[in-house]
Amino acid sequence: MRLPRHERWELAGRRVLVRVDFNVPVSEANGRLEVADDFRLRAALPLFEDLSRRGASVVAATHFGRPRGAHVPEFSVEPIRRRLDELGARVQLRENLRFDAGEEANDPAFGASLVEGVDFYINEAFGASHRAHASIMVPPTLVPSAGGPNLIHEVDTLLGVLSQPRRPFVAIVGGAKVADKLGIVKVLVERADLVIVGGGMAYTFEAAQGRGIGSSLYNAEYLAECAALLETGKVLIPSDTRGLPDGAALGPGGGPLEPIDFGANIPEAHEGFDIGERSVAVFTQAIAGAGTILWNGPMGYFEDPRFLAGTAAVARAVAESPAMSVVGGGDSVAALRRLGLQAQVSFVSTGGGASLELLEFGDLPGLRALRESPFT
Ligand code: AMP
Repeated sequence: MRLPRHERWELAGRRVLVRVDFNVPVSEANGRLEVADDFRLRAALPLFEDLSRRGASVVAATHFGRPRGAHVPEFSVEPIRRRLDELGARVQLRENLRFDAGEEANDPAFGASLVEGVDFYINEAFGASHRAHASIMVPPTLVPSAGGPNLIHEVDTLLGVLSQPRRPFVAIVGGAKVADKLGIVKVLVERADLVIVGGGMAYTFEAAQGRGIGSSLYNAEYLAECAALLETGKVLIPSDTRGLPDGAALGPGGGPLEPIDFGANIPEAHEGFDIGERSVAVFTQAIAGAGTILWNGPMGYFEDPRFLAGTAAVARAVAESPAMSVVGGGDSVAALRRLGLQAQVSFVSTGGGASLELLEFGDLPGLRALRESPFT
């Protein structure tokens, strides 16, 4: 996808607004909020540095949490400003965009206020570009605009995997809800050689095969579509499951009960929370033979250590593979990090929702806005 770039702009004495996604985790330390993970801040530093070196003054803007249009002090960007200062960033950070209801409402007047006194706009917020919000949509209609380097790299990588994968192309899709992920499974069945489905979304597929799923996550509305996807012969689902009886304690602290291996059918009044050992063996073997891997979503309720095994095995198989591997979605990335495997995959996508939408629809509102800018 061709997106406008900033490299040729004359920036001496000019002002540039950079839309970033600094919606980072914070935690309380020394009686105040501190940035707990500054990966996204560091990733933006080279752009700020480049723009300043070329003579621009740089203003950055981000959303942060969900203050819902009100000035909520706990969602102030102050901790992010402090961290940027410590990192030596040459940038002035505006207060949280979502303190104004105009941001999420895509209000033209709010959008215009963001570029008052601004000569150029750069969208470096891939993770926010699937939302038609004012800071994403309005500036490109008013000033010369470009995609930031990280955004462009992320778009190129994700679309490149879909259009020119080294074969076999193995996709792995997991997570809780079949409703959220069926669209992407449909696209991947067209493009990939094999689509592995795990996590809570897999039980609707299992039910479509007539298997017992007990009281596991399930959505009857999608039974027919799951059956049709299985018909393609390209979808691989778990052949066995681990789980617990209904009502058993569950959570990050674990619980007193040992997980039960259910085999292919989950009995009544029992719930599945992870793929079983046979599934792990089949899935990891398929992953090991891949030329390209795309992974989004966990294989089970991995926050509970008793049900981390399936997701961890997939994470290890992806990390160990020499294939081009792209991992997206907050939970898969969190699992990779928890296992210390993040550096061993080819590309980690920063935008969960945005990467799924780009893969499913081939475009995003924020990318369209850049391409359709009258200044492009
Ligand atoms: P998603 O946001 O759809 O990607 O789903 C991620 C969440 O799904 C994680 O919090 C997982 O713990 C949860 N999850 C995955 N598999 C299961 C399962 N079998 N039962 C319940 N929750 C699950």
